[in-house]
Amino acid sequence: MTDAMHQSGLSPRVRNAIFHYASDRIDVDPPLDGPRSLEELNELAGQTITEQGLGGEAALKIFADVLAPATISTDHPNYLSFIPTAPTELSTMFDLVVSASSIYGGSWKEGAGAVFAENQVLSFLAAECGLPEGSGGLFVQGGTLGNLSALVTAREKAKTKLGKQHWAIVCSSEAHSSVKAVAKVMDCEVVIAQAGESGSLGKTAALQAVIEAKAQGLTPFAIVGTAGTTNFGIVDDLAGISEVAKEYDLWFHVDGAYGLAGILAPELKHLYKGVEHADSFIVDPHKWLFAPFDACALVYREPEYARLAHTQHGEYLEVLNHAGEFNPSDYGFNLTRRVRGLPLWFSMASHGVELYRQAISANVDLAHKIAKEISSRGYLKLVRDPQLSVVVFERNGWDLAQYEVWSEKLLSDQFAFVVPSSHLGKPNTRFAIVNPLTKYEDLVKILDSME
Ligand SMILES: *Cc1c(COP(=O)(O)O)cnc(C)c1O
Repeated sequence: MTDAMHQSGLSPRVRNAIFHYASDRIDVDPPLDGPRSLEELNELAGQTITEQGLGGEAALKIFADVLAPATISTDHPNYLSFIPTAPTELSTMFDLVVSASSIYGGSWKEGAGAVFAENQVLSFLAAECGLPEGSGGLFVQGGTLGNLSALVTAREKAKTKLGKQHWAIVCSSEAHSSVKAVAKVMDCEVVIAQAGESGSLGKTAALQAVIEAKAQGLTPFAIVGTAGTTNFGIVDDLAGISEVAKEYDLWFHVDGAYGLAGILAPELKHLYKGVEHADSFIVDPHKWLFAPFDACALVYREPEYARLAHTQHGEYLEVLNHAGEFNPSDYGFNLTRRVRGLPLWFSMASHGVELYRQAISANVDLAHKIAKEISSRGYLKLVRDPQLSVVVFERNGWDLAQYEVWSEKLLSDQFAFVVPSSHLGKPNTRFAIVNPLTKYEDLVKILDSME
């Protein structure tokens, strides 16, 4: 940075103002807030990029008064849509430290200490899932890139053995949209295995899909099991799918972006039987491991396959490729890398794992409790019994437009953010509960508002 930038950055007033803003945002119950139109924002914020600069205080004021209120607080306890986020205070605080530290997390040479800490978290997750010693990986930006990195590795391994083929990935009808997005990038087919009534993919359907893929002249190279579907929080029969993978020599990838965190709760562990056979798995700390955006833990049973698939070579990079040094960037689809696993590391190292287990269990208990309440109300219908912490239900007689009006009122009242969803073409709504501060009483009030 230039001297002039350094000087203006050093203004104690600007620095204090930013510290205060961040500290308040971590302390205070965040307002839910909500979007504004482009016209409104143009009018309120005006042109902010100018030759002379606005000065730090003025720019911060625009952010605090105009821009931040035009974003929804995904960590609000009544933000229950999609998959919310609920970072611990310590993880958010430490994200500030990561930002201040300019650590290059792509190579051991530059980031050894931080990479060491990240790897301890990955080893812990691998051990929870029953993967053997020697497994490992890295934190990438999100589940989509985690799935891409794992499936590129899987295909590279298959390609080494079989040469060029018309490749296919097998996954459940309830698998996340990112699997299809990944297939598009990789230019391979997706063969869908039909999930059962419960929403879980079983062994027979998985087997059928593999056979069908082959009958179509495709070469399946990987089968994806979902450990907690995004819509319903339902776990596939991972053990059954792993048997199919073994029989047909397929890579077994477990997409647990949201739900694999549940394995930390002792009473849920049985749901994940079979994950110990995974060739790779992902879990997003920004979903259900109480860390800030954005991070995906990606773990391989045999990381060497990933290194062979992903290492970038270039004259200026070869100095980093010393034998025996673990360079995270070699194991995923990325090069420059923020040490985005450190906020989770710091919080987990500080609090200990037991608190995480309890927080996850509490979310699941709350989901079951509110599901029971929904079942008891005549005007509501539970679409499926929850397995993890997602509860999907219908308001009898409502069409999509009625859900939308109701949802917008909840947000404009600044009480909750709950959007319509759908299943098999029928509109519904859902509570995705990952925030330890979400209260049963507030969920009941939301149900009352639908009467
Ligand atoms: C959210 C999700 C993804 C995508 O993760 P991003 O971090 O949003 O890229 C993939 N799979 C499942 C099951 C998910 O829930």
